[in-house]
Amino acid sequence: MDIRFQHQCPQCGAPIELKESERLLQCDYCGVSNYLCASNHFHFTLPHSAPDKDIIYAPYMRFKGNVFFCQGIQTNFRFVDVTQLGSPINGIQRSLGFRPQAMPLQLIHPATQGTFIKSSLPQSMLLNKVSQIGQESEDKGLHHRAYIGDATSLIYLPLYVHENKLYDAVVNEPVTPLKSGLDLNSESVEDKPPWRLTVLATICPVCGWNLEGEKDSVVLVCRNCGKTWEAANGRFSLVDHVVIPDIGTNLTYLPFWKMTVTTSGLPLKTFADFLKISRQPRAIFDEWENEPMSFWSPAFKIRPKLFLNLLRNATIAHPTYSHSESLERKQLFPVTLPSSEAAQTFKLTLAASSIKKNDVFPLLPRVRFNVESLTLAYLAFMDNGHEMVQPCSQITINKNALSFGRYL
Ligand SMILES: [Zn+2]
Ligand SMILES: [Zn+2]
Repeated sequence: MDIRFQHQCPQCGAPIELKESERLLQCDYCGVSNYLCASNHFHFTLPHSAPDKDIIYAPYMRFKGNVFFCQGIQTNFRFVDVTQLGSPINGIQRSLGFRPQAMPLQLIHPATQGTFIKSSLPQSMLLNKVSQIGQESEDKGLHHRAYIGDATSLIYLPLYVHENKLYDAVVNEPVTPLKSGLDLNSESVEDKPPWRLTVLATICPVCGWNLEGEKDSVVLVCRNCGKTWEAANGRFSLVDHVVIPDIGTNLTYLPFWKMTVTTSGLPLKTFADFLKISRQPRAIFDEWENEPMSFWSPAFKIRPKLFLNLLRNATIAHPTYSHSESLERKQLFPVTLPSSEAAQTFKLTLAASSIKKNDVFPLLPRVRFNVESLTLAYLAFMDNGHEMVQPCSQITINKNALSFGRYL
């Protein structure tokens, strides 16, 4: 089950409920839209019911998402959803279990009063723990691991001290006796909320027109000046995009990230190099010898098996274009996978594309990629009833899987 959280409309104060992955705050009362963003992962709290107490917030790191493994000669994946106490506090539970799913959370904001215990659990340690869950032979034969389509957040459990006991402030029940209060030194706590949420008006920074998007969109579109914007680090940044022309009517444009890279640790400079390294059974045209290598990734969430297929199929198809069409009046599928996550896919794409896995998998640990340019490419798909089909490259996507991906 998904985490939900509540936030007030900055315009009229009406409460709005969103899912963990949603960022577009659309108010049904006043009609105003805003976009939530922050420079690092979102900080939530379980709502407390102890308004007259001095609240102490205990931090839990949370990870929800898919872990992909290239192990032996196989690429596997596993869905993981965990919370882990981020600071050693005696007597309280190590994990929040299902509690965050049971009630809408609140975002930490400047007016949140209390003492915040700092999390000393680095994200890398949580991810390391996450990757070991359910893993039998641990890292044997492991060539690569990636975390994609994930949500990492910090969730606080509100507590307070009363009559030498530590209380859970959500349910107002004691959790552990305390001999001499809670042992908190000044280095381990913060008096001010440790995190800053930025609320952006969904207005195009260039022309002032309303930006368009779904609740779970990570890229917003201006239909007036035709620009696309990705929210990152507390602001909207311009994203280069291309709408690749195609034949057909009633087309839906699905977004893909095209990432042109330089590579070290592997002689992979051009698209021709990629076809040779991955041993594709196809003729290599001369012009591909000079075409810098670009990886393609879906810019939307979809089940992990299909995601791997699309990484491979889109990168091998490597759609070409001589010009871009305008966004105007196009039916655009929302971008729900940020470019930062798409940039974690290169080794998976290489692994998924390779015909001779034994040749390529052992090389994965020492390969490094650097993104030189990033383009959001909208590809036209035709609806044939059950599937979306890309006429030129013949990439197909099951329609149910596409809509189900919105709930991942
Ligand atoms: Zn409102
Ligand atoms: Zn605009």
